[in-house]
Amino acid sequence: MQLDPSNLDSVDFEKAELIPAIVQDYATGVILMQGFMNKDALQTTFEKGLITFYSRSKSRLWTKGESSNNVLRLVEAHTDCDFDSILLLANPEGPTCHLGTQSCFADAQPELAFLGTLEKVISERKNADPNESYTASLFAKDLSRSCQKVGEEGVEVALAAMKQDKEELLNESADLIYHLLVLLQRSDISLSQVVDTLAKRHQ
Ligand code: AMP
Ligand code: ZN
Ligand code: ZN
Ligand code: ZN
Repeated sequence: MQLDPSNLDSVDFEKAELIPAIVQDYATGVILMQGFMNKDALQTTFEKGLITFYSRSKSRLWTKGESSNNVLRLVEAHTDCDFDSILLLANPEGPTCHLGTQSCFADAQPELAFLGTLEKVISERKNADPNESYTASLFAKDLSRSCQKVGEEGVEVALAAMKQDKEELLNESADLIYHLLVLLQRSDISLSQVVDTLAKRHQ
């Protein structure tokens, strides 16, 4: 059940005063961290729009990022089937783990989240040295080159499928997605906006 400030009482703080709260990256689905919340922490999370736990080591409310500025911006909060745990979808600013990784479960990534990682890597190459990065060399050329690339790769995908050459279809599909991500980046459109458009059509 989705939580909002009017129904926080539905969470079962009688069963346990501190409830496990899992934070998931809204854009990529990556699990970022787990903490504990009491009712006060949940209320504060909604008030600030920033995820706030009850820290067992600090024995007080702890807004993630209060000193590092690596905050977790709340998008949605949900409780589970028996109301004794909380799932928070959030947009992270900076790395969530104090050890510097995106997630506290550093090497656990759902496969499709790699698309988000790739999008980020592409955006970071935008101003890199064109001699050292193929992606940077694409950004150094006219936009029309990226448009042409997407067209070419699209045709190559279609030809591979016609030939029923699975190996080639896989490779050309990877090329197409990569060049599409570059083109979207150059057009200031994020992958999540594209996914959003697909999801809206489905409703
Ligand atoms: P921050 O809330 O990011 O300003 O970090 C403040 C302190 O909280 C850090 O020095 C760590 O002791 C602890 N901390 C920060 N992030 C995490 C995390 N993801 N998991 C556990 N402890 C954390
Ligand atoms: Zn439960
Ligand atoms: Zn951590
Ligand atoms: Zn190709």
